[in-house]
Parts: sequence; C-alpha cells; structure tokens
Amino acid sequence: MPRKRKPETNESKPEKSRKRKVVEPLPEPMTAPEPIASVQSVPILKPKTEPEIKPVGLRCRRCNCGHFETIRTTPISHNRILRRRQCRYCGLRVTTVEKQL
Ligand SMILES: [Zn+2]
Repeated sequence: MPRKRKPETNESKPEKSRKRKVVEPLPEPMTAPEPIASVQSVPILKPKTEPEIKPVGLRCRRCNCGHFETIRTTPISHNRILRRRQCRYCGLRVTTVEKQL
C-alpha cells in the first residue's frame, strides 16, 4: 500500500545558504500625477481623400472597370469641361462633359 507522500516544498527544507527573499510592498508612485487634460477631446483628423482622377459613376462599358485616365481636358464654356478619357485596361476612349456646379 503506497504511502501518501507529502509534497515537500523548498521552504521546508533547511538549506545552507538560504536566501531570504524580502517581499516588501511596492510604494505607490506618488511622483507622477495623472494628466488632467483628457485625450478624448482631441478631434480625429480624417485623412482627406480628394478624388482626383476617380470618376464617379463612370464605368468602362467594355471591361466594366472604373479606372480612366484623363487624356485631355478641354473647357467648352465657363462651367463645362470636356474630358477625353481612356480606360487604363482596355484602352476604350470615352468623352465626358463635366459641369461645374
Ligand atoms: Zn475598359
């Protein structure tokens, strides 16, 4: 019948060079005061993404992509611009008239 052995820890063993581990409670840091100015009042600056060449709603009818390069910009009148665009992928050329509001 096996005897129940007590799990012996190192603390119970008498050692020659016994290091005394002094555990003292850490003093609370009183030197650093909490910043009073809250960070949450800083407005989050959204990166301004200006659509430069991005044509809205313009889709290539051949490859159905929306990546057009502006080849030529011709002003027709004071608020209308004729743009010659070319699809980057299939090379389809379209002419759009942009109206400045
Ligand atoms: Zn295309």
